[in-house]
Amino acid sequence: MSRPKIAILGAGYGGIMTAVRLQKEMGANEAEVTLVNKHNYHYQTTWLHEPAAGTMHHDKTRIMIDEVIDNNKINFVQDTVVEIKPEEKRVILENGELTYDYLVIGLGFEPATFGIKGLKENAFSIRSVNSVRKIKEHIEYQFASYNNEPEERNDLITIIVGGAGFTGIEFVGELAERVPELCEEFDIDRSKVRIINIEASPTLLPGFDEELVEYAQNLLERKGVEFKTSTMIKEVTEDGVIIGEGEEIKAATVVWTGGVQGNSIVANSGFETNRGRVPVRDDQRTPDYDNVFVVGDCALLINKEIDRPYPPTAQIAIQAAHVVSKNVLAMIRGKELESFTPDIKGTVASLGRGEAIGKVYNKKLYGATASAMKKIIDNRYLLMLGGPGLVWKKGKLKLF
Ligand code: FAD
Repeated sequence: MSRPKIAILGAGYGGIMTAVRLQKEMGANEAEVTLVNKHNYHYQTTWLHEPAAGTMHHDKTRIMIDEVIDNNKINFVQDTVVEIKPEEKRVILENGELTYDYLVIGLGFEPATFGIKGLKENAFSIRSVNSVRKIKEHIEYQFASYNNEPEERNDLITIIVGGAGFTGIEFVGELAERVPELCEEFDIDRSKVRIINIEASPTLLPGFDEELVEYAQNLLERKGVEFKTSTMIKEVTEDGVIIGEGEEIKAATVVWTGGVQGNSIVANSGFETNRGRVPVRDDQRTPDYDNVFVVGDCALLINKEIDRPYPPTAQIAIQAAHVVSKNVLAMIRGKELESFTPDIKGTVASLGRGEAIGKVYNKKLYGATASAMKKIIDNRYLLMLGGPGLVWKKGKLKLF
């Protein structure tokens, strides 16, 4: 009898953790598992603000897939998913196709542009290793160009970050570390450089603890970050942004962190979605297909206590992967499926070297303690993914 085929699309937090759990929990020859990913590496999306600013080498965020996947149990296919055909149980790839009995979609997020004119064309986004390499190189090039211009071009050394959610705040925190180094390297007066964060809501980190937000804002302002809250970006142009009633801020670098949505491949493949995210059942299956699971940022999960969606996070993607792997096996074994409820342990946002804020098990954390906690969370993930060897190789071992 042929073995049931499981296909996992995407090797982000959700996809790779599903694969790792399956390779541990599956019996010999119980199923044929294929993992498809664009690259031959998994990357730590939650660290990408660091290589984007140039405070960490991008290789540190990458883990080769064959380091954590057992090739005897999982077939890895490096390819790009183009379309899913759920009626035909088929996935179209750039260089071929595959068929499945059970599918796990873990294709992650893409920037949500909210229809802002010029944003897609003119703003960078923190999305993948390749996208952040481009941001770092672009910023360095602007700094290198500054003293070669016949006229003073302060727009070259103005960096605008759209959005003051976690990604935006973590990124300006890293920029505040990196800018003094760039100024020294390229002989630029630090006072001429502007890092401007623009946020439509009245505060940074909307919905987060007020005291922690105030701590973050004070610290980042002391490091030279300017905040413009209650300010909408109306348009992103080749020269900068148009805000509010038409004011222009000239900037050679605009990075958009103002929102994400599920990978558009999912909606384009005909799945029911809301901002690109599939409103999954309690067991993480799509509403329409009993054999299709969604894990990570492509899934829309409702927090029943407040009747609002959970924000998409790596924390939830990793937890959901544990349940999805069990549920796929339960289907194969004819057993009952489990429900998934996220167990939110807390959130920590870094604010640059050795600084962070967070709430963990409802306890507020600041400064070096919060920063150490963030590194512990990161190391714990590596431990789950690849054991102590991976923590040693890729972990953040210097806690303080
Ligand atoms: P992703 O991690 O986005 O992975 C998707 C994978 O699919 C990637 O490997 C990609 O290459 C692959 N892929 C995409 N398209 C295709 C295709 N067409 N074909 C083949 N492969 C494809 N969350 C937290 O919990 N804590 C944090 O501190 C935190 N900090 C963050 C900081 C930053 C800077 C950012 C950007 C996000 C942060 N998040 C954080 C959110 C978190 O990173 C996401 O929720 C998480 O990455 C979602 O995981 P995922 O598995 O759904 O997808």
